[in-house]
Amino acid sequence: MDEKPDCASSLHELYSFLDGELTAERRSHIQAHLDGCLPCYEAFDFEAELRTVVSARCREQVPEALRERVAEALRKLAESGPAD
Ligand SMILES: [Zn+2]
Repeated sequence: MDEKPDCASSLHELYSFLDGELTAERRSHIQAHLDGCLPCYEAFDFEAELRTVVSARCREQVPEALRERVAEALRKLAESGPAD
């Protein structure tokens, strides 16, 4: 098993990361990946900012439709990202 998470699993765990649901160990793995992977870092930054905006406006969870659009954007980022 590769100790460094790949882009797909990192993106998948971004939501948990942002929700604060990951263990400290998992967070450090994801953080390490973000530090070395620009597409994932930008996706993380985008999602984090989106949540800030949404929570400031309606103080609720990101609507499912918007979440889907973000997930789509993250997939495209992952697909166009550099091969590791
Ligand atoms: Zn990545």
